[in-house]
Amino acid sequence: MTLRTLDSLGSLAGRAVIVRCDLNVPLKDGEITDDGRVRASLPTLNALIGQGARVVVVSHLGRPDGVPDPRYSLAPVAKRLGELLGRPVRFASDTVGDSAKGVIGSLSDGEVAVLENLRFNPAETSKSDQERAAFAAQLASVGDAFVSDGFGVVHRKQASVYELAKALPSAAGLLIAAELDVLQRLTDAPERPYTVALGGSKVSDKLGVIEHLLPRVDTLLIGGGMLFTFLAARGYAVGSSLLESDRIDTVRGYLERAHELGVELILPTDVVVASAFGADAEHEVRPVASIEETPWGASGLGLDIGPETAAKFAEIIRESVTVFWNGPMGVFELEPFADGTRAVAQALTETRGLSVVGGGDSAAAVRALGFTDDQFGHISTGGGASLEFLEGKSLPGLEVLGWQG
Ligand code: ADP
Ligand code: MG
Repeated sequence: MTLRTLDSLGSLAGRAVIVRCDLNVPLKDGEITDDGRVRASLPTLNALIGQGARVVVVSHLGRPDGVPDPRYSLAPVAKRLGELLGRPVRFASDTVGDSAKGVIGSLSDGEVAVLENLRFNPAETSKSDQERAAFAAQLASVGDAFVSDGFGVVHRKQASVYELAKALPSAAGLLIAAELDVLQRLTDAPERPYTVALGGSKVSDKLGVIEHLLPRVDTLLIGGGMLFTFLAARGYAVGSSLLESDRIDTVRGYLERAHELGVELILPTDVVVASAFGADAEHEVRPVASIEETPWGASGLGLDIGPETAAKFAEIIRESVTVFWNGPMGVFELEPFADGTRAVAQALTETRGLSVVGGGDSAAAVRALGFTDDQFGHISTGGGASLEFLEGKSLPGLEVLGWQG
């Protein structure tokens, strides 16, 4: 690993430092519903403020399609950032226009400005290398150095992530360094026993992670919507549960591979079957061999792992020294089907070793279920980025900072 770190930039006092953060927070009616990503950006910003840099924060928010759209303005996020930093934060109503130039030009040492949503400019995510490079050059013209700290976007080849890092002296911020430190512990010589718990909706989203982690783990626990494709591979009828028929052969291959490698791949023994998809649906716990033996027959839907499975998974997790969990165990958004996810999350808080939560919906799930971030070893701020890292893929936003995996 040769990731360039902040100190490689030398003294930043009095210099304009552009910082790419991932401040893509969920908003409801203009209010931030989860400021986790804003909080995660604080260590780097405070370090730069402490050095007396002139800090220029850039980020995207949502998918505004390359045009200014007030619903995706970063203004409320800049306000929240000011509250968390405990100091005024200036806001520019554009990214490379007069407002940005004016605000940046008037910054004093140790002051912070946030520029408007990068994705109001189509060049940020353009497929054309040239367009992205031109936009990055415009951004770079107002800065002396670049700090990349938006871990959630390092898997994207976008102007503010990739080309901007080439256009200025650049380094990784503290969040990226911390995320990588943890993710590396999950792939290189993890402390054992090492358990990975996978759930979520589709097995096809997680094939790369399963393939890359299978030879590294002691135990793999399978829950969520993907469990039904595994059950089908073992020959069980799964009613109308989420099933990817075109992946059954691939999954059967994993079952065989796990056996050869001596990895314990554990499938649920019971599931919660519902009459329909909804919080008011009738539901009952069934052993996996009789999913279709409910009053709803083949139309029954498996929406959570059952209590016996949840207890077994929890016990294995508690006894592990390294645990990585990605993907809710059931449809946690509906309270009757949240117990499996709750049990697994609770168990992660009770391990004596390193517990890591990855995946956007999994992170949202632990917070929605009332857990706090400090109960876990680490909650990754980058769902897609952390999964791609764990698939062993090379991430453009890290490569450009000197990372070689
Ligand atoms: P992450 O973002 O953490 O990687 P995913 O995006 O893979 O997780 O999956 C999250 C979704 O999976 C949740 O919205 C949840 O409702 C859904 N899910 C979990 N279990 C099931 C199930 N048995 N049937 C259908 N959907 C499920
Ligand atoms: Mg997701």
